[in-house]
Amino acid sequence: MLLQVAVPVPMRMTFVYNPPSGCIPNLNLVGVRVRVPFGRRNVVGIVWGCTEESNILPKQIKTAACVLDTHPIVTAPIQKLCQLVSEYYHYPIGEVISCALPRLLRSGKSTELIGDKGVKMTVQAKNADLCVISRRAPRQAALLEYLEAVGGWASQQQLAKAGFSSGLRKALLEKKYLEISPALNTSVKPDLDVKSPLDLSKSQADAVQAVSNCNAFKSFLLDGVTGSGKTEVYLRLIAQVIQQGRQGLLLVPEIGLTPQMVQRVQSRFLGRRVIVLHSALTDRERHDSWLRAWRGEVDIVIGTRSAIFVPLQALGIIIIDEEHDGAYSQLSGCRYSARDVAVMRAKIENIPIVLGSATPSLESWHNIKQKRYQHLRLPQRAGSAQLPTFHTIDLRGRKLLHGLSTELLQAIDKHLSAGQQILLFLNRRGFAPVLLCNNCGWQAKCQYCDARMTLHCQPERLYCHHCGAAQCVPKQCPACSEMQLQQVGVGTERLEQTLRQHYPDVPITRIDRDTVRGSGRKFSELLKNIHQNNSHILCGTQMLAKGHHFPHVTMVGILDVDYGLCSSDFRALEHMSQLILQVAGRAGRGEQSGEVYLQTRYIDHPMLQALLRSGYHTLMDHLLVERKQAQLPPLAYLAVWHIESKVKQKSEAAAEVLAQHIAQYTNKQVNCIGPIPAVMMKRANYYRMQLWLCSTQRSNLHQLLNQVLNNWPKLNLPSSVHCTLDVDPVTCN
Ligand code: ADP
Ligand code: ZN
Ligand code: ZN
Repeated sequence: MLLQVAVPVPMRMTFVYNPPSGCIPNLNLVGVRVRVPFGRRNVVGIVWGCTEESNILPKQIKTAACVLDTHPIVTAPIQKLCQLVSEYYHYPIGEVISCALPRLLRSGKSTELIGDKGVKMTVQAKNADLCVISRRAPRQAALLEYLEAVGGWASQQQLAKAGFSSGLRKALLEKKYLEISPALNTSVKPDLDVKSPLDLSKSQADAVQAVSNCNAFKSFLLDGVTGSGKTEVYLRLIAQVIQQGRQGLLLVPEIGLTPQMVQRVQSRFLGRRVIVLHSALTDRERHDSWLRAWRGEVDIVIGTRSAIFVPLQALGIIIIDEEHDGAYSQLSGCRYSARDVAVMRAKIENIPIVLGSATPSLESWHNIKQKRYQHLRLPQRAGSAQLPTFHTIDLRGRKLLHGLSTELLQAIDKHLSAGQQILLFLNRRGFAPVLLCNNCGWQAKCQYCDARMTLHCQPERLYCHHCGAAQCVPKQCPACSEMQLQQVGVGTERLEQTLRQHYPDVPITRIDRDTVRGSGRKFSELLKNIHQNNSHILCGTQMLAKGHHFPHVTMVGILDVDYGLCSSDFRALEHMSQLILQVAGRAGRGEQSGEVYLQTRYIDHPMLQALLRSGYHTLMDHLLVERKQAQLPPLAYLAVWHIESKVKQKSEAAAEVLAQHIAQYTNKQVNCIGPIPAVMMKRANYYRMQLWLCSTQRSNLHQLLNQVLNNWPKLNLPSSVHCTLDVDPVTCN
């Protein structure tokens, strides 16, 4: 018997090895890690199966060095899932596993928890009267108080830093006020009051009922307008599976931007084991959280896209919040859509999956039309809140104050004087998108991309938003030396500056990647500040659109939607209308009703009119007709090959070679378009070509992809050319 091992290398196959000495191969080994020689290296692979035959000569078969686990680390359902992902996205199996396992486990670390052996408060300590303890042992009481303030858990280091001795810690451990516990891994401090479940509205109750009636695989689309109480439905469904002793998996687009969601789950399920998995965790934290799930020590997992691969003992339900969100798509390495992988997983686990959104993706809308998903609707806002009313402002021929029309300013005045909050949305960071010379027409361009540099003022620099390159801002024109450089256009920095000048007494908060820089905490501070104030202007990018609940916002201004109406990306209209409705959905979520003002130069655009007059569903129906005519997803299956190199001619030549290679296998059912240059041909110093393969039959397309890939070595492409395949791409830039 030989071991078939999935090895983390870019080859579409598993490799056979003799078992390590003393080890008898059997099916119990499937899913465990083994260390195997590969080339000149030793790598960690996963046993994928056992076999008796191989077409490799016995003496050429290498022997695995050792088995690392006693139990499969890739559980049977996850193995199936990885296999499916590998086949669907045509990505090497060994590398798909990289998405599924935390880095430390991939590098061979043991399945022991690393746990910074910190301490947490026991129930006894939580019930104790700190005043009483304080009288006899003030330092012990201080330590408990400190722990309470930081969320109930602290590492040894943290305690030392805060000035608590290890003797103190020991005394409290002896009194059973503390217990040793590895990190709790909760990125947000839980609210300590238990939120009692609300009375469900009729449509919420129907939705919960429909899903709980189902005890096998089924996909549901929870199509609920913004503020309709989708989260309440999720929480009920999760509560039900926990009661059955099973686990719930809730995916969110980005944790840092939705601290409220994590808080709501934690406060509803106090005492339950909730783990949060996201990209900002350290390797050690991820390792431990993942292992807890694997060992069956959790009830709820909240996570971003890669959490879809987390093993759970008895998964009961998968919920994908904001299922339309682009953050579910991984754009590098194994390019997958966590939403689609989640449906695969639900099928494997034979459980229901709920996709929730106020603006469902066109893919999900199509699945509703095809009756593949069951449609659950929450057409009204929860409680007494109403959906906002829309006003459009025609920008043609208007003089603007840095992007703000007179009507918009008047509307802002009105809401400010009523003591309410205003949200202004502009999807462009920085101060100005263009820096140009009035004398000779020179523009600040990125030397690595076919793109302009964006002027930023805090700090003052030119940045390329595509590759991250930065430059000093020239004082005079680099081409003609005249001092006539002009800042053209408006970004969020400039908008903020304009607002501060116009409304000197009003608190203003800007929210975009530059003010929130990665740290979830800072974002929650900004949110707190917003929640505390009355009249207040929030301005920012799409970060503001992500599911936040700002109860005092009664007005939303959308400064510019025109890029979405004119873009060459075939998904631009869909994305733009989602963004409009999501941003608009921040208005009037409290007691006061809301208004939305939308500025545009294309007021008669038929799609914009369809959205505003007849609503999102009608627009989606229109878009489906368009996509059908154009034979584009979701009415056709699309795969795009990206061919990139640092030398333009090399990219073009390689794309041509690949196109000819494909032509050998292609048939009438698959339409091959290209080679064509990407919309931005040069990016981050790479010249980018594309080949589009499109078919109305998935099987035809995938058969072709397999043929092309199986014969890949014949292509003999230079190693300096990178080819990547994107199946069901979300962006084609
Ligand atoms: P969504 O996720 O659909 O945007 P949320 O779940 O955030 O909506 O709910 C919006 C608001 O409505 C929240 O403040 C929530 O507490 C409240 N809410 C939800 N369901 C109900 C209900 N059945 N009755 C009263 N209020 C509700
Ligand atoms: Zn010039
Ligand atoms: Zn660039």
